[in-house]
Amino acid sequence: MTLQANFDNSYARLPDRFFTRQRPEPVEAPGLIAINRTLADRLGLFLPDAQDEIAAIFAGNHVPEGATPLAQVYAGHQFGGWVPQLGDGRAVLLGEVVAPDGARFDIQLKGSGRTPYSRMGDGRAWLGPVLREYIVSEAMAALGIPTTRALAAVTTGEPVLREAALPGAVLARVASSHIRVGTFQYFAARQDIDALQALADHAIARHYPDATGPEGLLDAVIGAQADLIARWMGVGFIHGVMNTDNMTISGETIDYGPCAFLDAYHPQAVFSSIDQYGRYAFGNQPQIAVWNLAQLATALLPLMPDRDAGIERFTEMVNGFSDRFETAWHAVLRAKLGLSTPQEGDLALAFDLLEAMARGEADFTNTFRALSGPDPDSAAALFRNPDTFAPWLARWQARLAQEGRDPATRQAAMQAVNPALIPRNHRIEQAIQAGVAGDFAPFERLANALATPYAPDAADLDLATPPQEAERVTRTFCG
Ligand code: AMP
Ligand code: MG
Ligand code: MG
Repeated sequence: MTLQANFDNSYARLPDRFFTRQRPEPVEAPGLIAINRTLADRLGLFLPDAQDEIAAIFAGNHVPEGATPLAQVYAGHQFGGWVPQLGDGRAVLLGEVVAPDGARFDIQLKGSGRTPYSRMGDGRAWLGPVLREYIVSEAMAALGIPTTRALAAVTTGEPVLREAALPGAVLARVASSHIRVGTFQYFAARQDIDALQALADHAIARHYPDATGPEGLLDAVIGAQADLIARWMGVGFIHGVMNTDNMTISGETIDYGPCAFLDAYHPQAVFSSIDQYGRYAFGNQPQIAVWNLAQLATALLPLMPDRDAGIERFTEMVNGFSDRFETAWHAVLRAKLGLSTPQEGDLALAFDLLEAMARGEADFTNTFRALSGPDPDSAAALFRNPDTFAPWLARWQARLAQEGRDPATRQAAMQAVNPALIPRNHRIEQAIQAGVAGDFAPFERLANALATPYAPDAADLDLATPPQEAERVTRTFCG
C-alpha cells in the first residue's frame, strides 16, 4: 500500500523557473523513528499499516501517487549578506495536500539528497537536527505558536559525514507553504516582474485571500510577523538564524537550526555557534524582523504602480512594525502576569521583572510558572539575589488586588499562557545522544511530555528542571 492523500500541487503549476523537478534520492535502509498520527489525521492522510512502508514513504524511497516532487528556488540575506541563489539544497517538496476541511499543506522531505541548489552540501541531514526539529516544532505547535510541523522522522541507514560519521535521517515537514521572504527576493533581484506578480498572487490566494495587491500582502506579512515574534519572546524562544530565507510569508516559524529556549533570562542570550556577533540574540529579534520585512518591501516594490509613492508607503508600513510588535508583546506580557485589564504602569512592572530576572539569572519559564501557581513566593528561590525579588512581588500583588479577579480564575488564566514545560536544550541534547546510540525512548518521552506544556503530567515535571552546570548547553549548531 502507499500513502493516500488529496494531492493538489499548486506550486508545481507555477512557471518552470520557480523550481526544479527533483525526486528524493532513495536511501539504503529506511527505519521509522516517529510518525505523527494526529497530524496525519488532520491532513486527511491514509497511511499504510506496515511501519516499513511508512518509513519508505517518508525516507523518499517510495514517492506516493499524486506527488510531484520538486526543489524550490529562493535567495536571501544570510547574516545581512546577500546570496542571489539559495533554494532547497537538502529538501524536496513532495507536494501539497488539501485536508478534509479545505486547508492546504506542503509536505516536504528534509535531508532527502542533493538537488541543483545543494552547492557544496551533501543534501543530507544527520539524526541530531532531525530529532531537534521534530521535538521543537511540535512543542511550538503545542504552545500555540504558528509553526511548521513534524509529520515523520526516519533513519536512512546511511552515514552522514560531519565532524564525524553520524547516522543519517530525514524529517517529513508540514507547512502551510514554504514561501519565504527570500523567494520574493530571488525574482526581484532578477527583475523578473512576471514571476514576482505570479508569486504575489499565489501567496495572497494561499495565505491572505482578503489582501489586495502588494500593499495588502506586505501589510498582512508585517502583522503576522509582529505577532509571531511577540509569541516567540513570550516563551523565551530564540530562532538563531533569522536570515530572510528563513522567514515565511505565512507567519509560521520555519527552519529549526541553531534555535534554543532560554533557561535563565537574558535579553542578549545567543546560542547559535555561527552567530558570532549576536545578530540574532533574543532581544534583537524584533529589529531583525524589521530588517527582513524591509527586504520584503524592497522586493515587492516593482509591483507598485508608482515607484516613488510606493517607497513612501512601504517605508511607513515597515516603520509601523514597531508599534504592531509592541502592541502584541505588551499583550503577551500582561497575560503572562495575569493582568486582564490594561493599566498605566503595567509595562514598567513587566520590564522591571525581566530586569530583575536578568540580574538574578532567574529561569524564564519557571519564574512565570511559579507566579501562576498558588505560591508565587516560591519564585524568589529562582533568583540569585532573592531579596531583590521581594519588592517586585509586593508591587505585583498590589496590582493584582486592584483587579479583584478571584485568584483561582487568574491562576488558571496564567497557567494557560505560562508553560511548565519547554524543550530545554539539555533535554534535547540528551535525546539526541541516546538516539545516536539507538535508544529513542528519551526522544519519545520528551516529545510526548511537550504535547501538553501548560498542563503537564506530574511524572514529567523533572523535564521542567533547568540544567545542572555540567548539563548546560551553551552552543547550538545548524547540522
Ligand atoms: P539553512 O541555514 O538551513 O537555512 O540553509 C541555508 C541553505 O543551505 C539552504 O539553501 C539549504 O538548502 C542549504 N543547505 C544546508 N545544508 C545543506 C546540505 N547538507 N546540503 C545541501 N544544501 C544544504
Ligand atoms: Mg533555511
Ligand atoms: Mg536549516
